[in-house]
Amino acid sequence: MNLDNKVSIVTGAASGIGLGIARRYAQAGGKVAIADLKLEAAQAAADAINADHPGAAMAVAMDVTSEEQVNAGVAAVVEAWGTVDVLVSNAGIQIVNPVEQFAYADWKKMLAIHLDGAFLTTKAVLPHMYAKGAGSIILMGSVHSKEASPLKSAYVTAKHGLMGLARVIAKEGGPKGVRSNVICPGFVRTPLVDKQIPEQAKELGISEDEVVKKVMLGQTVDGEFTSVEDIAELALFFAAFPTNALTGQSLTASHGWSMT
Ligand code: NAD
Repeated sequence: MNLDNKVSIVTGAASGIGLGIARRYAQAGGKVAIADLKLEAAQAAADAINADHPGAAMAVAMDVTSEEQVNAGVAAVVEAWGTVDVLVSNAGIQIVNPVEQFAYADWKKMLAIHLDGAFLTTKAVLPHMYAKGAGSIILMGSVHSKEASPLKSAYVTAKHGLMGLARVIAKEGGPKGVRSNVICPGFVRTPLVDKQIPEQAKELGISEDEVVKKVMLGQTVDGEFTSVEDIAELALFFAAFPTNALTGQSLTASHGWSMT
């Protein structure tokens, strides 16, 4: 699988899974725009990738919940590289709390970043993909697109919602050569997960070690975290797959935590 100068935009790519995907796309011969909240962080990630793959990465400041910033960011990429072939809508955060204590503002923030972000970025790139009759939209779901866990009402709701969005994009985009798929990772040790460990320990009244071994990895087949590299490989597969045969799908990589 290679990307042969194809242009990708990866949101939330200054850190964690998004950064791993951006790196993998550059290794595979693609050009990749690192879209993230802060320009400095996005630029640092782009610089690191360019050190190994000169000219492969550019940085874009983008809050995915702002239609203006999303449109400006996509326009900047098209201005620089002429097109967009692949979108990875990956930016995300986590807020955990039981439903009865979940602040409404936090609920709205979660749905805005995960769902509005996927919608706005997709809306902005589709005209460029339709104009050339080809493209791949990849939405970052989760095992929580298919399963539920306590304390994660907003996250589970948003990640389930992305499955619906991907299927609609697949149906609308199919006749125009645009595919849409969801990646569903199990727990990956990124800053997003590191932050949850003490929070969940406090909320559930157990030790941090128990959060990792029982809550996060207890239902895997081997007690192991999924890695950034595992998910980057799937993202390359969805980006580079050559036909419309693979669309409207979700692929779970979770060491067997979820088998659906
Ligand atoms: P991370 O915290 O390492 O990275 C998330 C990035 O998103 C950060 O760089 C952050 O600045 C950026 N971001 C946050 N809000 C943004 C906004 N409004 N606009 C633009 N960028 C924004 O987290 P991660 O673990 O790499 O998570 C990436 C994605 O993978 C998320 O959608 C997350 O839900 C999903 N995911 C993560 C795991 C996991 O275990 N880490 C599992 C399943 C799914």
